[in-house]
Order: sequence, then C-alpha cells, then structure tokens
Amino acid sequence: MTLRLHNTLTRTKEDFVPQDPTNVRMYVCGPTVYDFAHIGNARPAIVFDVLFRLLRHIYGEAHVTYVRNITDIDDKINARAAERAKDRNVPVLDMLREITAETYRVYQEDVAALGNLPATLTPKATESIPGMIAMTKALIDGGHAYAAEGHVLFDVSSKRDYGKLAKRSVDDMIAGARVDVAPYKKNPMDFVLWKPSSDDQPGWDSPWGRGRPGWHLECSAMIEESFSPGETIDIHGGGIDLMFPHHENEIAQSECAHHGAPLARYWMHNGFLNVEGEKMSKSLGNFVTIHELLADWPGDVLRFNMLRSHYRQPMDWTIAGMRESWNTLERWYARTEPLANWRVGETFLEAVSDDLNTPQAIAELHQAGDEELAGGLRLLGFNPAPERLASKKIVDTVEIERAIEARNTARKAKDFKESDRIRDELLAQGIVLKDGPSGTTWEVKR
Ligand code: AMP
Ligand code: ZN
Repeated sequence: MTLRLHNTLTRTKEDFVPQDPTNVRMYVCGPTVYDFAHIGNARPAIVFDVLFRLLRHIYGEAHVTYVRNITDIDDKINARAAERAKDRNVPVLDMLREITAETYRVYQEDVAALGNLPATLTPKATESIPGMIAMTKALIDGGHAYAAEGHVLFDVSSKRDYGKLAKRSVDDMIAGARVDVAPYKKNPMDFVLWKPSSDDQPGWDSPWGRGRPGWHLECSAMIEESFSPGETIDIHGGGIDLMFPHHENEIAQSECAHHGAPLARYWMHNGFLNVEGEKMSKSLGNFVTIHELLADWPGDVLRFNMLRSHYRQPMDWTIAGMRESWNTLERWYARTEPLANWRVGETFLEAVSDDLNTPQAIAELHQAGDEELAGGLRLLGFNPAPERLASKKIVDTVEIERAIEARNTARKAKDFKESDRIRDELLAQGIVLKDGPSGTTWEVKR
C-alpha cells in the first residue's frame, strides 16, 4: 500500500517516499501559549496525530520523529501579560512566565484528553534563543539579511524563489497583503528576524542589542535544533492560515541559512474549522475552547467528530455532529471491548493512506466486522475502553428530562422525600440540578 499525501508545494497528491524509512521526520507548528486552545487548534493536533500513528504503523514506532513546538515568545503573549500584570500589580516578566507555563500545562492536558500521543520532542522558543541568534548571523553573513535600527530583517529580494509555497510573486504579495511599511525596511515584504525589546518585554542580549526573535525565525531555529542544521525534514504541517507568510518565511530563512538545502519535502495544511456555520471569533461569542467542551463531552467523541471531515476541507463543528459521533462510538465500543483481537482492514488502510481520507475510513468501519473495527479504531487513536465514554455517559438527556419531570410532579404533590430522592439519584450520576425562576436546568458536575 502506498501512502499518498497532498503536498502544498506542488498542489498535488503525491506518493510519500521518506528519505530514510528508518528515520521519518515530521514537524508541526504548535500552539502559541497565552490562552486556552480552541476547538480549531485541536484540528491540527488531531490530524497530525493520526498521520503520526499511520507513519508509525507503516515504518515502525521507533522510526518516526514528530516534533511539535511551543511558541512561548510572541507579541500576543506579551500583550496579555502586560494587561494582567497591571491588573494584579506584579512584574510583567513574572506574569509572562506564569501565563505561558500554565497555558501549556492545560494544552498538554487537553490534547492528551483528545487521545493524541505526546510528540517525540516539544521544543520551546525560549530554549532555542542561541540557535536563533546564530541563524540570524548566518543570514546576515550570507547576504540574506540586514540590520537596521535595532531590527534585523530578511531581505526577500535575496531569495530567487521566495513565494514558491504561496505561489505568489513578491509584487503580487505587496499588492495583496497588508504589509507593515517601516522606514527601516528596504522592501515592504522584508520580514523581521530580530526586533528590539523594551525593559518590560522579554529580551535577550544579541549583537543587535537586547531584543527578541520574530515568530518565523523561532520555528526555523527549533527545526534546526530538533533535527540537525541543514537536514531536510520529510513533512512540515500546520493550519492553512500558516502557509503564508509563516511557512513561506520559514522556508526562506532555513534554506538561505543552509546553502539551499530544502527545509521540508512535503508541506501539509489542514483546513479551517467553523462553529455552527460561523467563523469562530471572540466577538461573535462562539469561541469554544477544548477545555470547556471536555467538561461535557468525552475526548474520544471530540476526536471522532473531527475525523468525520477530511482534514483539507473546511469543517463545520456542530452539537448535532457531536451527538451523532457519541452515538456511533457507543455502539462501536460495545462491540469492540475488550480489544483482544484486532487487525487493520485492507480497505480501511487504503482510505487512511489516501491523503488521510478519514471520512472514507470511517465509512469502511461502518461495514467492518468486529476485529477490523477494533483495529481501525486503534489506528485512528481510539482505545475502545468503555470508561472512555462512561465517564460522561450520564448525559442521556431524555432520561434526565424525564427524571426532572418526575421530580416536578413529586414536588407539586409535596412529596419531598421522592423529589429529593430523584435529585440525589441524578447527583450520584454526576448531574447537578438547578432550580430557577424559569424552571429546572441541569449540568454535568466536573
Ligand atoms: P495558533 O496557536 O493560533 O498559532 O494556532 C495553532 C494551530 O491551530 C495552527 O496550526 C493554526 O493554523 C491552527 N488553527 C487555528 N485556528 C484554526 C481553525 N479555526 N481551524 C483549524 N485550524 C486552526
Ligand atoms: Zn512554525
């Protein structure tokens, strides 16, 4: 069976042939740690975890390296820390450390609850500063970057094929993009490798003064450090929003610092996720975090729901979809537990190997016998242990509504012994009732 992957570099589906089948190398841009991850951020985490598992299945567990970084230097983090430090009257740099450490801790918990394996390596930007400074120096020495007013900028005119991933010429980019025009830039598309920091911003000493790296440089340096300088990786992934400028700029930096050695051979991008038909945004109030969903839904249900869409397609995340996902998993887990005998079916594997066609793979599972169902679920990262669903299985909404009605009847008849019994019985199942002016509502106890 041949694994085929859609490569953004060529815009086509290609056979995946690793440089070295005993050492398959993948890098995925990880979270910027300043706020809870939303369900859109869960998409690359789950999609590339499925790819990681598939690669391990094909090449062996010991032969795949998956690196997912942690962006803990970013101006959004600085802004959040400054705001909170002011509220609480504490030093901004202490606040910053607290925010990034705590956000990352929650992120790890969230992605683990979604059934994702830990990545092989999780480099942090703050721990790769010397590599970033060294790469910046190399780019200046090679004539690809210049220092100006405490900044160091990458000179896009120094790279002949700049724009090869986005498939746009520099002129088109200038015409189409909102570019920061700054007096120290030679070309409006030149981007920051290094910038100066004020005293209350995180900063490191460098030949260009105290400052901090640009976001794109962070990834190039972390890739270099996780693998080795000039080593071409097999797969580089992230959400489609990262293709330009982030990934284009990673390519520019890494290739120019490494005498043209390609950064990655296959570029993969997941499509965007909307919520109930709308773009997720804080202002629309439909910004759903993984953390709050996990309060009401088993992680496996969220994972399954995600995989029902093809990763490159835009996806609409809905409650109705999650309910369907839960029902399917419940039926399947009842059939496949305990997971004593399993094997991966041929047509299932063909589907996942066809550019991670998980909707087709799931359709195959609907037709499969118990052993192949168990094997397919396993490969997609599910462990059909009933308690994975049972922890929140109490949310049988019809049953709860019925119990609330029975309790209301008992209360009307002043049978408080019975109404208390019903309330306590629900509580024992983890359902808390709340009596309010417009009736009784319920929620799942955390
Ligand atoms: P960030 O923490 O914003 O850098 O994003 C982490 C990852 O989540 C990146 O790969 C983004 O492309 C991806 N991402 C962000 N929002 C969405 C979304 N709504 N749908 C799918 N992927 C997303
Ligand atoms: Zn990146």
